[in-house]
Amino acid sequence: MDTLLLSSNLAIIIEVKNIAGTLFFDQLFHQLIRTNKEGKEEGFPDPITQARLHQFQLKGFFEKHRLPQVPIEYVVVICNKNSILKTNPGHRRIFEKVFKAPHLLNRIQHLETIYQKEVLSSKELLKISKMLIKKNTPPKKLFMDRYLLSKNQLRSGIHCPSCFFIPMYRVKRQWHCPACNIYSKDANMQGLRDYFLLIDSKINNKQFRQFADLSSRDVASRLLASTNFPSSGTTKGRFYHPPVDLYGRDNK
Ligand SMILES: [Zn+2]
Repeated sequence: MDTLLLSSNLAIIIEVKNIAGTLFFDQLFHQLIRTNKEGKEEGFPDPITQARLHQFQLKGFFEKHRLPQVPIEYVVVICNKNSILKTNPGHRRIFEKVFKAPHLLNRIQHLETIYQKEVLSSKELLKISKMLIKKNTPPKKLFMDRYLLSKNQLRSGIHCPSCFFIPMYRVKRQWHCPACNIYSKDANMQGLRDYFLLIDSKINNKQFRQFADLSSRDVASRLLASTNFPSSGTTKGRFYHPPVDLYGRDNK
């Protein structure tokens, strides 16, 4: 599952595809056929079938844990703005589920008007977010897999919370911005949140040092520990995970 939007009323599974060309969503054989500029055809797994499977699995997760059954919708978002979407005659309704990225907000707003009943309390919502993260099911490498070839395309270093300059330096046990001259104790917090959204859903000491341009293992270890983000493993093999509020809501 690429992304899950979970609210008190509704869960929306969002499958994101970045495929160029003319995309034919074959609803008879459940496949996706891409035709490129030269007219060459290529088959892909049908993202609608994938999304339905994830819908089924998520429903099972709610049942297994005896959670209130929140309605589960899914959408397939094509983020390549030049692709052309087609389907079999008589199956136009699939374009309620499959569409280009700019339409996503409209669709979410539409679904919100359909599902107005609150099924989950904010307490339950928080509990479920925690459970999903514990099961290691938050979106992984969402941004990087889709938009970047490697981590090297991202600039390393922690950005200044005030003027967004990159990189900040460690000075007197704090982060210092050479551009606007401010000091920050926890600028690495935002950096880590970015990391979890852009690169991976976990980070260890070495990866953090690379990402934040830090040379000292001890400093990196202290900074990671100070975030109080969930962690797994011990000392050398320890990984830190996203805080539960990362994927959308301010549940502290
Ligand atoms: Zn600054």
